[in-house]
Amino acid sequence: MNKIKNKFILIPVLTAIVFLGCSIFFNYALKTKDYKSYVLFLNDISNKNISTVYITNSPKISVKLKNGAIYETDNPRTNDFKESLLKNNISVSEDTPYDNRGLFSTVGLVISIIAIAVMWLKSSNIPSKGILAVDNLDTVEVGSTDYNFESIAGNEEAKESVKDLVDFLKKPDKYASYGARMPKGVILYGEPGTGKTLLAKAVAGEAGVPFYAVSGSDFIQVYVGVGASRIRQLFKKARNNSTGKAVIFIDEIDAIGKKRDSGKSTGGSDERDQTLNALLTEMSGFNEKEGIIIMAATNRLDMLDPALLRPGRFDRHIEIMLPDISAREKILDLHLKNKPIGNINIKEWAQKTSYFSGAKIENLVNEAAILACKENSKNINDLHLDKAFSIVLAGHEKKNRDYIKDIDRKITAYHEAGHALVSLKVLPNETVSKITIIPSTKGAGGYTLSIPEDNLYQNKNYLKNRIMVLLGGRAAEEIIFGADYITTGAHNDLKRSTSISFNMVTQYGMGETLGLLNMEELLNLNLNQDEIVKECKEFIDSIYEEVKTLLLNEKHNLENITNLLLEKETLYKEDLVLKDI
Ligand code: ADP
Ligand code: ZN
Repeated sequence: MNKIKNKFILIPVLTAIVFLGCSIFFNYALKTKDYKSYVLFLNDISNKNISTVYITNSPKISVKLKNGAIYETDNPRTNDFKESLLKNNISVSEDTPYDNRGLFSTVGLVISIIAIAVMWLKSSNIPSKGILAVDNLDTVEVGSTDYNFESIAGNEEAKESVKDLVDFLKKPDKYASYGARMPKGVILYGEPGTGKTLLAKAVAGEAGVPFYAVSGSDFIQVYVGVGASRIRQLFKKARNNSTGKAVIFIDEIDAIGKKRDSGKSTGGSDERDQTLNALLTEMSGFNEKEGIIIMAATNRLDMLDPALLRPGRFDRHIEIMLPDISAREKILDLHLKNKPIGNINIKEWAQKTSYFSGAKIENLVNEAAILACKENSKNINDLHLDKAFSIVLAGHEKKNRDYIKDIDRKITAYHEAGHALVSLKVLPNETVSKITIIPSTKGAGGYTLSIPEDNLYQNKNYLKNRIMVLLGGRAAEEIIFGADYITTGAHNDLKRSTSISFNMVTQYGMGETLGLLNMEELLNLNLNQDEIVKECKEFIDSIYEEVKTLLLNEKHNLENITNLLLEKETLYKEDLVLKDI
């Protein structure tokens, strides 16, 4: 885009040069006029050669002959000079004679310079990115995107969470008539390349409304006030399109909506505040009936300014996760669909690409296609994917954790299986809804989600069982890999179990050291806390032994869940069936 603009800028540059030349020529070269003495001038008068005399207050006056030639002569400065000329039927002008050609080229020059300035400012200041950057919104036909939910493989939960938005965009009036308040803003968060942009485009595509995309970073690094005015411009454009509806997508929202760090104030953050405020103002400015939804993407939800996340703003948050094995298979299928493929074992490739994002899988398939093409091979096959795999890994391996070592996957799988198994055993009324070894914001290695029972009170036994579940991860690691090979993966679990046991002993009157005494009330007394720590430790230690015994008795189930996890990466409630030996 920039290149094209640079080419166009040559046109005004060329015209400017031409006009500059003309203007110098006409205004200066031609201005050195002939001079005739006053006597010759009087001669011309009597010969009736003169059409106009330009009387000014300068020592010389200009004379224009009937044949168009102009010369200068001395200004007689007599009182009746003008009258005597008029009597001779000569027109008199009190301006200097101007040369149309000179004026014309000066005007041309000025216009060309303005054109250069405008083009230069446009191409340097407004980054033209993506199909619908703000600067060319009016030039691009803002029809809906070609994307729909079919364009996204996997990500089922995320798709499900935006379906009502599509319906709302189609019939905003219907929702308004029920008094239903739809979210104005939706935040999609998750690793780069997981399909956040794709999902936003698909929402616009499914609803058949125009899609406007900008990136948060486009609003930064510009002069103060420009970012804010661009936001206003963007909303104006989105509202004024023929349908009146739109999906506005803001990538990298954190660039404008990052948490403000208190105290520190730099020039850049002033600009950011202005931009952010403009965005919030625009968002509160349109009402629910309008059918405009703003979707924003970020890698980290916790980095965002809470002001952005309040109700009526970006109040729906959807996590877009890295694909698990079955999702990866679908993504591979999708991207191989329209390509000539030979002997490819898609299932195996879905396995090999663990921790790959959708974008990386797309990249892999593309590299393989390029290789096949270079070789003039009949089709793309396993060998091309093999080579492409090393290329893609070599390019990414150092940058992030794409290629987690097998042993780490195994540790994560045993650890999570430990949590899940203990939970199934000691808290049978809680549903283990999901267990995965795919990292996300919920856990760097993997995580186990369970739906707690809805009780007003938690009893002592329940709290003890919660601690058991929390310790299940570490216990499984120790049983399988040995006491010397336990890992840092239990860090968070231990924090939480410590906190529960400490509260039991010091707040809820469930321990021995303090009995029914409450720690907060006792604090002024400077009592011996060692005793309490000792009790908490003994308590946790004995629970830990209990957990290990439980897991040892259930080792076959631990192995089963782990193997299933390693195979499928994500398990749901129905996958978790325990067997007795
Ligand atoms: P993000 O916005 O999360 O960084 P994108 O939406 O830009 O990611 O994804 C980049 C590309 O990766 C997409 O254009 C698509 O080709 C591919 N991709 C990512 N996720 C998926 C998916 N779930 N299904 C199909 N393709 C995907
Ligand atoms: Zn854990």
